[in-house]
Amino acid sequence: VYQGPTYEDVLNVRKRNLTPSLVTFYKQPVLIHQGYMQWLFDQNNKRYLDLFGGIVTVSVGHCHPRVNEAAKRQMDKLWHTTSIYLYPSVHEYVSKLAEKMPGDLKVVYFVNSGSEANDLAMLMARLYTGANDIISLRNAYHGMSPWTMQLTAHSTWKYNVATGGVHQAKNPDPYRGEWGGKRCRDSPVQTTRSCECAEGQCLASEKYVEELEEVLRYSVPKGKVAGFFAESIQGVGGTVQFPKGYLKKAFELIRNYGGICISDEVQTGFGRTGEHYWGFQMHGVTPDIVTMAKGIGNGYPMAAVITTPKIAAVLSQAIHFNTFGGNPVASAIGSAVLDAIDEDNCQANSHNVGTYFLKKLEGLRNEFPNLIGDVRGKGLMIGMELVSDRNSRTPLGAQEFVNIWETCKDMGVLLGKGGFFGNVFRIKPPMCITKEDVDFATDVIRTAIKQNKDRNTP
Ligand code: PMP
Repeated sequence: VYQGPTYEDVLNVRKRNLTPSLVTFYKQPVLIHQGYMQWLFDQNNKRYLDLFGGIVTVSVGHCHPRVNEAAKRQMDKLWHTTSIYLYPSVHEYVSKLAEKMPGDLKVVYFVNSGSEANDLAMLMARLYTGANDIISLRNAYHGMSPWTMQLTAHSTWKYNVATGGVHQAKNPDPYRGEWGGKRCRDSPVQTTRSCECAEGQCLASEKYVEELEEVLRYSVPKGKVAGFFAESIQGVGGTVQFPKGYLKKAFELIRNYGGICISDEVQTGFGRTGEHYWGFQMHGVTPDIVTMAKGIGNGYPMAAVITTPKIAAVLSQAIHFNTFGGNPVASAIGSAVLDAIDEDNCQANSHNVGTYFLKKLEGLRNEFPNLIGDVRGKGLMIGMELVSDRNSRTPLGAQEFVNIWETCKDMGVLLGKGGFFGNVFRIKPPMCITKEDVDFATDVIRTAIKQNKDRNTP
């Protein structure tokens, strides 16, 4: 039973004392006071199915018993020392985490947030190559620190402050991009707007790589590039999947120009995409640096940068220090999260339940072909894009979109939203959800669409 301050008090304090740049979801924001696995509870103990997992952060489930137990045990023993001393929990954790990485990716720097991880990756790329310029993709999200804000490529997330040395290449978006590539993306659902690619040869990915080379030649002084950043599936950008082969060719190109390649696994790591533990593996690439956050701690603030010994060595040119990175409590939690992912078969569940979910949503798209423009994703990293016209792909009006989303909330299903036009439902739940949850969510979305858009009923 909820015993905290009243809803009105909480809302008033939020308005008065918390930064005005914060946005809340929903006309009447939900007040969440408790969570368990895929469920959240409000002040009236109404239960919600959480399909957004605190923005793709709750990986194994809210208050997962194994993770809670590990946190409590460590808190009773030792909270903090910093890395100036040895302590067992970080050594245990880092060995386990490094084992999850392929190839030479064995050196871990612990930090506290995704932005910090990407900042550090930018620093390493610049020091290692001796170059300054970095390329990311339009529609990407890599953080909000002054450096990573330059990588982030949604104008709505940018502040006009002096910046330099970061360029954006055209986003290989198979649904909205000019060269298509939809048939070539790696997803169990293949919907309309096929591309013109020959079997096994994706024309779209070649075109996008040509454009990336133009950025290198026109925007980067002397073509001296430090690094290239990409999410394995874009998260905030609305679950955009690149055409097959794009990332592999892009990495080759960047390396030919002397740069290194950084995979941002903040949303796609730790088994979420189902078939693989890391999102980059679905592209058949091994990055030079991998950054991770969010799901790494199941909601506890922690993050990491993993790279090769050769690249990691650049940070020994001067002292590099982080007070909280890899602290005993974070390490105990991170370690328990890795165990829970394995013990609960989260990766296999992401694959099975995610594929089931994608197919159910694809069925929904067939029921509402003029409203659901695209269903995409892999594992439990899913996007559903709403449009007002299937052929022109005009994004659905904000009010109509929000009405459907609000109705889902009223019926007990919390969905994320995103995409450049804000018209994509983002579905990235804790990896413990079941097929029954998917059936319930699909029924709720169908009902919400019918209630809000008479013209779309079949
Ligand atoms: N990279 C990606 C792909 C993200 O989605 C985010 C957060 N939305 C970040 C980096 C930044 O993480 P943080 O908010 O922890 O700084």
